[in-house]
Amino acid sequence: MTAIVFNHATVRERADMLSFLHLSAERGIDTVSIWGDEITKVGEANALAALRDHGMKVSGYNRIGPFVPEYLGRAEAELERAARFGADHVFLFTGGLTEGERGLTAARWRAEDQIGRLLEMARRIGVKLAIEPLHPMLAGDRSVITSLTSANDLCEALGPGIGVVVDVYHLWWDERLEAEIMRAGRAGRLLGFHVNDWLLPTRHLLTDRGMMGDGIIDLPSIEGMMRRAGFRGAIEIEIFSTDWWARDPAELMDVAIARCQGLFSDLVYERAAQAVQLL
Ligand code: ZN
Repeated sequence: MTAIVFNHATVRERADMLSFLHLSAERGIDTVSIWGDEITKVGEANALAALRDHGMKVSGYNRIGPFVPEYLGRAEAELERAARFGADHVFLFTGGLTEGERGLTAARWRAEDQIGRLLEMARRIGVKLAIEPLHPMLAGDRSVITSLTSANDLCEALGPGIGVVVDVYHLWWDERLEAEIMRAGRAGRLLGFHVNDWLLPTRHLLTDRGMMGDGIIDLPSIEGMMRRAGFRGAIEIEIFSTDWWARDPAELMDVAIARCQGLFSDLVYERAAQAVQLL
């Protein structure tokens, strides 16, 4: 068992879903985080067969949203597909303001209302929803939920079936990070942990994420918070980067695994356990 999961977006420019599953399996990884649009590209039957052939599980399914009327009609079908893939959780992507809108208040009310409706659907279908707060600079066009505090508040108001994903890129700056990770842990709602890094300078908010260790985030410290809060799940590598997308996917994955092994405690233990097994 490995404690690493790759998000397909990390290599999607040069590896379709079938190649991505193959590359993951080659590295002894048995769980993946996947995208609905990438399933469509290779065909659902092919994607399901490849998962089965590799004996792979799905952690995250990306994604439900943006919450615009044209999309919302498809949400139920998307949740059903996530269930067919056995996804542990499905990401919510609220989107930002509507054309001509000013300020966030109404947009947040709309999103919260919609999440409530999606949660009823998800409970019926039997999948968990995940709120991943995004960096506040993305509030206008990507997500109106921009802190773990508001994500926790919303989960608390909505009850079971919904949790949070902590992505270091979006949350590393927050002085309430540790308190809110602990709060989520106590409620049993920590569903995922995404790693990458914040580069200085960051040239593009969406496509210039760093490889772990190349930026300024104190990754071991945030991992420590997650573990103290009781999170036992995998570390999910999610790097949206034009620089890394241009590299060979196999090489990128090997570098990312090596960086994680150097940075995160549970992977050190994991390696130690494997070494013992080999003896
Ligand atoms: Zn993420």
